[in-house]
Amino acid sequence: MCEQYLDLPITPVDTAFGLMAEYDADPHPSKVSLIAGAYRDENGSPWVLPSVQEAKARLKDDNHEYLGIAGSPAFVNLALLLTFGSKLTTKLNKNIASIQTVSGTGANHMVAVFLARHLRPARVFIPEPTWINHQTIWAQTGVPLEDYPYYEPQSRSVDLDGMLSLLEDKAEANDVVILQACAHNPTGVDLSRSQWAQVMELVLRKKLYVVFDSAYQGFATGDPDTDAWVIRYFTEELLFDSDSECPGLCVAQSFSKNFGLYGERVGAIHLVVPRHLSPQGALSELKTLARAEYSNPPRFGARIVETILANDELKRQWKRDLVTMSSRIKAMRRILCKQLEEQNTPGDWSHIESQIGMFSYTGLSAMMVARLRTQFHIYLLPSGRASICGLNVGNADYVASAIKQVFGEV
Ligand code: PLP
Repeated sequence: MCEQYLDLPITPVDTAFGLMAEYDADPHPSKVSLIAGAYRDENGSPWVLPSVQEAKARLKDDNHEYLGIAGSPAFVNLALLLTFGSKLTTKLNKNIASIQTVSGTGANHMVAVFLARHLRPARVFIPEPTWINHQTIWAQTGVPLEDYPYYEPQSRSVDLDGMLSLLEDKAEANDVVILQACAHNPTGVDLSRSQWAQVMELVLRKKLYVVFDSAYQGFATGDPDTDAWVIRYFTEELLFDSDSECPGLCVAQSFSKNFGLYGERVGAIHLVVPRHLSPQGALSELKTLARAEYSNPPRFGARIVETILANDELKRQWKRDLVTMSSRIKAMRRILCKQLEEQNTPGDWSHIESQIGMFSYTGLSAMMVARLRTQFHIYLLPSGRASICGLNVGNADYVASAIKQVFGEV
């Protein structure tokens, strides 16, 4: 047997990407993929947003020069405005360090490296469950990871009591808490505004450092301002409405889903620093990290976003595109739920409709998920997470009756 080079073990492939390869290789004509976190239209095809198509037509960009290390200044300002809104952006004025990043993953990674080195938290609290990459990214920093309960399977809702009591017991000043701003991946359940207020009170009192992962702004409700509510609320409360020495907060922003620019890798970091401190050192450190990792972020996707957000007509079209995507997802939730109920599938399926965003935590067990794959060629994650984008009027019926059958068999 041949030894591994440098003694390196083979790490398992990412579950989602492994399943996608399996799906691609499956020749079955009725196969259905509910795996990927990427929007699909009613024909199951990738969708280029009309606003993006128009922006590309207007761009005629044959400029392939490097962007600066911090990215395009126009893009960064527009990303800031999209996140915080104009009133708060003006208020934040000189208390913010923002740079363009290599998508939401790059933003999460840079934030983790930056905070591990400079905030030096004793631990980072990650929701259980969460987007799988939060674990992978933070595990590389050496900061001890702690899960906090996010989801309560019985009630199929946020485990607010579990979350608050764990943070109350274990979190100390300067510890990092990862929060998803909206359309929680993978559960599809978000906190209500009154629940967010309780989390905010704890964060403020215990002087915790919040990282908002904002990967679905506009994708949840169709309105980017509504979906950024919690970020703006925390920023106002922590930075302006309290006398406590808050360590600051930051936002890791992705443009993959809300602009359909998955492969273009467009993102940003916004680091909000306490009012009595200057962000200049932090900004220069973020640039140093960027310089060492990739030197300059990609140009094309950022130019598309910039072209849309800087133009009133294109921005209006983009908002219509968000409504197209979010309402198709809502309609598919409704259809699947209705089909499951009409077919008298055992159990209560109303959560499929009440959850929000791209994903549904269906409640299917790993065994049922395996049955769906092997028997019906329907692919979803072993956790029972289904990407609702993979459903359309042509396959919802098939998926519902397959679910009913695995329920009867397992
Ligand atoms: N954060 C969350 C919660 C996500 O679900 C994703 C993608 O699925 C990302 C961040 C990163 O997305 P990207 O790197 O494609 O921008």
